[in-house]
Amino acid sequence: MKAWQATIERIDQAGIYPEHRTVTQGINQPICLIDGKPYLTFASNNYLGLSYHPSVVAAAQETATTAGVGPGNSRVIGGTSKQVAELERAIAAWTGFEDCVVFPTGYMANVSVVRGLVSPLFPDQTIGDSIVFVDQLIHGSIVDGCRCAGAKVVPFRHNQPEDLTRKLMRYREVPNKLVITEGVFCLEGTTIHLPAYVAIAEEHGAMLMVDDAHGIGIVGPEGGGIARLFGLQNRVDVYMGCLDKALGGTGGFLCGSNELIRYLRVGCRGAILSSAMPTMLAGAMVEAVRLARIDQIRRDYILTKADRLKEMLRAKGFTTLGEHRHPAVAVLIGPDELGLQLSRQLWEQGIFQPIMRWPAVPQNCSRLRLSVTFDHTSEHLERMVATLVSRRAEVPN
Ligand code: PMP
Repeated sequence: MKAWQATIERIDQAGIYPEHRTVTQGINQPICLIDGKPYLTFASNNYLGLSYHPSVVAAAQETATTAGVGPGNSRVIGGTSKQVAELERAIAAWTGFEDCVVFPTGYMANVSVVRGLVSPLFPDQTIGDSIVFVDQLIHGSIVDGCRCAGAKVVPFRHNQPEDLTRKLMRYREVPNKLVITEGVFCLEGTTIHLPAYVAIAEEHGAMLMVDDAHGIGIVGPEGGGIARLFGLQNRVDVYMGCLDKALGGTGGFLCGSNELIRYLRVGCRGAILSSAMPTMLAGAMVEAVRLARIDQIRRDYILTKADRLKEMLRAKGFTTLGEHRHPAVAVLIGPDELGLQLSRQLWEQGIFQPIMRWPAVPQNCSRLRLSVTFDHTSEHLERMVATLVSRRAEVPN
């Protein structure tokens, strides 16, 4: 038996193979059609509802007409479309960094940047040992980036800067140190206190990278992210974000100083060995960034709705994680089996809500992530809570 066959057999035996649903209509919206039947869902992270925003859709259409759908090659070979260049300028201005480089996905940005920062580019180059210090709950794309870089990984306790300090002291002599955390851990309900990490990284001569996939568009002035929230743009080495959540599209970006981004344009293998972000999408994302910056009312509206959902769930005895204000509400369920069972029961009640479980979260700490978006109504919130309450015999408090 081949290794992959043994793995899939184990997945099947445990009954944990995820359902892959085909959504015929309404993908990324609160009500979607699956097999001709409408389902309520809080599974998409289209927080600001920009995916279907008329001017974002119009920008995508117009770009497709004038510049085509895809780029046709990597940027170093085929050139950079003016839409991608404009998007990079717009993101840098928004987040407050000197420059920005975009990638077709956040996964690609993360895998590429970790390798680019801590492993040599030239085969004959020696740079000494590297260690990447990561929050123990860091996203899997960073973990894969560390593996790709061949770097030693030292995890520190979730959201505990003191533990990071201890670990950095233990490896004082290592020449290349990179600290990576997330701005918003939406599955835990935590927004980090960035100043603590900046101070520690500076004290220990380490580079600092923040993955703000769930923070961009939501936290800080104009939704400009966690670095802007604390006014620390010039003290974070790499600020990473995603375009598939609050911005409603897809893509990843890295922001930093002019000098660093100039390097990352060649130092990230994903930037030179893979095609550029689809042109049509870049055109749409320029408009999405413009809207996300100016539309504070939209941001406040979803945060207020998410607060309400949290209150309703807590009033019914459910455990929602964390105290921060964010549109993604994490509801603790517990054992993976129980989570899967709950998700199946919700499905029977016309709710499409896959359970978040290992490897997205530690084993047997499954949870629902209910992402409140601009288009969710009070009725949607009430129906979700009422359905969960009707299943409460199975769900622990
Ligand atoms: N970082 C974090 C924190 C994420 O949650 C995700 C995926 N949702 C990624 C990176 C990867 O981004 P993408 O989906 O754009 O590949």
